[in-house]
Amino acid sequence: MSDLIDKPSDKRWHSLTWRQSLRVITVALCVGLIICIFEIFLLFKITKEQLVSEQNQILDLAEPPTSEALWSLDEELADRTLQGLLSIETIYNNRIVSDDGSVFSEKTRTNQGDVERALPFKLFAEFETVTRPIHSPDKVQGHYGSGEIGMLVVNFDINKITHGFIDDIFVIIRSVFFNSIILSLVLAIVFHRFLTRPIIAIGQELSEISPDSSSLSSISAPQGHQTGELSFLVRQFNLMLSRLFKNHKELTKIATRDALTGLANRNLIFDKLRTNIEQAKEGGSEFAVIFIDLDRFKHINDSMGHSVGDKLLVHLADSLTENLPKGTFVGRLGGDEFVIVYKQAYKQHQSDELAPKLLSIINKPFAADSIIIHPAGSIGCAFYPKDGETVDSLVRNADLAMYQAKKQGTNCFVHYDPSFTADSENRFNIETKLKLALQNDDLLLFYQPKMDAETETLIGCEGLIRWNDKGNIRPPADFIDIAEEMHIIVPIGYWVIEQACKSIQRWRSMGMSIPVAINVSPIQLRESDFLVKVKEILSRYEGCTDLLEFEITESTLMTDIETTFSLFVQLRDNGIKISIDDFGTGYSSLSYLRRLPLDSLKIDRSFISDIPNDTVLPSTILALAKELHLTTVAEGVETDKQLAWLKENHCDIMQGYYFDKPLPISEFENKYIN
Ligand code: C2E
Ligand code: MG
Ligand code: MG
Repeated sequence: MSDLIDKPSDKRWHSLTWRQSLRVITVALCVGLIICIFEIFLLFKITKEQLVSEQNQILDLAEPPTSEALWSLDEELADRTLQGLLSIETIYNNRIVSDDGSVFSEKTRTNQGDVERALPFKLFAEFETVTRPIHSPDKVQGHYGSGEIGMLVVNFDINKITHGFIDDIFVIIRSVFFNSIILSLVLAIVFHRFLTRPIIAIGQELSEISPDSSSLSSISAPQGHQTGELSFLVRQFNLMLSRLFKNHKELTKIATRDALTGLANRNLIFDKLRTNIEQAKEGGSEFAVIFIDLDRFKHINDSMGHSVGDKLLVHLADSLTENLPKGTFVGRLGGDEFVIVYKQAYKQHQSDELAPKLLSIINKPFAADSIIIHPAGSIGCAFYPKDGETVDSLVRNADLAMYQAKKQGTNCFVHYDPSFTADSENRFNIETKLKLALQNDDLLLFYQPKMDAETETLIGCEGLIRWNDKGNIRPPADFIDIAEEMHIIVPIGYWVIEQACKSIQRWRSMGMSIPVAINVSPIQLRESDFLVKVKEILSRYEGCTDLLEFEITESTLMTDIETTFSLFVQLRDNGIKISIDDFGTGYSSLSYLRRLPLDSLKIDRSFISDIPNDTVLPSTILALAKELHLTTVAEGVETDKQLAWLKENHCDIMQGYYFDKPLPISEFENKYIN
């Protein structure tokens, strides 16, 4: 996480303080420079004006005596005057020039020595030599006189007259630049203390907040910034943090909770198991993983609607959470599958105590939309570390145990046994091999004769599937369940219909019209395009329809009566007869049977085998079939006593080993066709 958090740059010159200070200094220096230039210009102007005024004053003072001296040719006065002027420090030479151009008197300072400075000399060059015309004394005194009589020439030492000017320039430059630097430094410090430092503090606080935190985090406004922009920034951050926290919470919930029941979902279950394994490994303890799958949940969903199914799941989730011991973890893996992690189950017998409790929770009747449902479930249990040391193996083995429980019937609790893994591998093998068998034409349809009870002659046959597994002819019991579970029963089922049609057509061509009954799996019946596919097959085998019969087990009828009804009507419209197989083992009601368009009832073999000792059920079924005007078929007729009783009680058709076992087509043809 820390990698994601940016830190203020380590390079100092990248810092806000540095960059801001640099900018302030640059701006301050530029402004200072402009001020300097302006001040120097002003100084230059003022200095020039002062110089002009000073030079004029000097010349004004010197003019009368020089005029007097030249007019009266008084050399002594001239010398004294010029010598007097030399006492002014800035003058190094002065002379009186007569109007004829000759120098009347001249005085020069002997110790004049400084080297000329380039810049001031150029700036003030015009002030180096100043001249003043000398007039006759009258003119000087303001009277009209005889005019100009000569010239007073004064040479000023530029270095000296500009000495102050240069010094002043340096003072200006120094003070402006010094002020700029001081101001910049002060601003940098102020800026750092009042802006950069609080920003770093905000960043620091933010970096310490973990996005995965389970509690809402917020940052506080830096001292002195309880109001203003930084406080606004902090408030916005806090607002964003609270939104992030809310989103994070919701995402975590979505990622770990089952939306319907609110229980832990697959992700959380697996996480929980991972931590449990780590803890158990450290503490040397054991725990149980319990897998629950509701029985006939699909039936509830199909017949009562998904909303009822959902309510049942929520009800079960609540019951499990409320009634299981504290600390027991309950999650929903998906569909009607629940997982329980039971830490208290240190020994197998302790979890055995849990089984009846779990079943009583599951079996509690549940009322939904005025319907009372009696839920049932199959429970599988695997222990850590005995049955698996990883999450995957534990869940898989608990699931396998649950599968075995389901196989044993309803409301069973089974502990995992290593043989289940072999069984599951076997099922997987069968599934793969069965797919190949379908492709390679290794499936066979055997035919068992159906005999007219009165004449004991062939009246039809039942097509029964076999699998030629490398020369070993395997019965349906080996693979039908797996085929149904893996849904390969669907293509297999169409193959069976096609085989039956082929045989009907073949026997027709041989001059025999033999009805063929075939078994249709409930899985296949539920296919939405079942009727379309059947019609498509029938269209390819002309004249088969009236001789084809579908045997549908009684338990299949229990699901959604409306759909079953309309499907049966359409099948019969297409000339297909419908027979209820294994009749007597399901729970179909009389009114239900009366509504359905049926042709015959096949009494389950188990009731036939009871004849003649127990004939209550066969008699009841025969009476019912007569009442419903249905043809009756007895399957599993093995003895002449059974045959006699059935004949006596007006059963129409006989099927069983008494006549023949299911036979390969060639044998069946040899025996019954021609
Ligand atoms: P089922 O439809 O009730 O078929 C009758 C079963 O009883 C057949 O077993 C038959 O061989 C057996 N049987 C007939 N007479 C006697 C008898 O006198 N004594 C004894 N002990 N058994 C007798 P099979 O062929 O093993 O088939 C078992 C079940 O497998 C069938 O019961 C049917 O439910 C299913 N099945 C068979 N073929 C197919 C098929 O093509 N598709 C589907 N979905 N299921 C099939
Ligand atoms: Mg059958
Ligand atoms: Mg049967």
